[in-house]
Amino acid sequence: MLLPENQQFIVVVPAAGIGKRMLASCPKQYLTIDNQTILSHTINRLLSHKNIAKVVLAISDVDAYFAQTTLVDNPNIIRVSGGKERVDSVLNGLQVINDKEWVLVHDAARPCITHDDIDKLIKQCLASNSGGILAAPVVDTMKLAINNNANEATQVSKTIDRSSLWHAFTPQMFKTKELKQAIEEAQKKGLLITDESSAIESVGLPCLLVSGRIDNIKITRPEDLVLADFYLKQQQITQKKG
Ligand code: C5P
Repeated sequence: MLLPENQQFIVVVPAAGIGKRMLASCPKQYLTIDNQTILSHTINRLLSHKNIAKVVLAISDVDAYFAQTTLVDNPNIIRVSGGKERVDSVLNGLQVINDKEWVLVHDAARPCITHDDIDKLIKQCLASNSGGILAAPVVDTMKLAINNNANEATQVSKTIDRSSLWHAFTPQMFKTKELKQAIEEAQKKGLLITDESSAIESVGLPCLLVSGRIDNIKITRPEDLVLADFYLKQQQITQKKG
């Protein structure tokens, strides 16, 4: 299935987090790799895709960094206010999209997203007329902890069968109206929504697992920055060769 170039999508990018786990002096999306912020890397990857027309960017109202980036003058970026949680930022983004059947949502902190993975997600969702997410099967043995605080010494409660476990990445793609309604309903019920799929699942709608590249990491801890730098450079080399 070939995607016609005139089929244009909008991507909502939540970028209003503070990235506490990075232990950095500024929100993680403003840390730089090769003199470019992580946010710029991410947005450039999205807006250089032939089927992505615009990005709706959720930025905190007290963000002092965005105004200093070159992104501020980009006419293809629609800025909205971020919310308290990631899901609130995404919902604010969805409110300004009125005329698009489908929407993609992508974390600002995932700069290594490739055009091939975006193609794959869009094609599979359109072909099956179903929402879906980029994801990868879990490879490590998975343990359930007795208490849930990853920073404290704790014990194993039990081993979980990993054969049906997947890591959920972004982009995640859904019908705009269905995603908006699902998030609003989930919020009314007070459910924990850490990605778009969680909202969609909570209202019983289907979501495809589309196998994606594992270098599509979410920069979360200090060591991820070095890894993202390496992946971005490797991807550029492979692209030049291809
Ligand atoms: O903190 P975490 O890595 O899970 O955040 C995922 C994405 O959601 C990041 O791009 C972050 O900036 C964004 N986010 C947001 N609004 C919040 C919290 C997180 O847009 N209130």
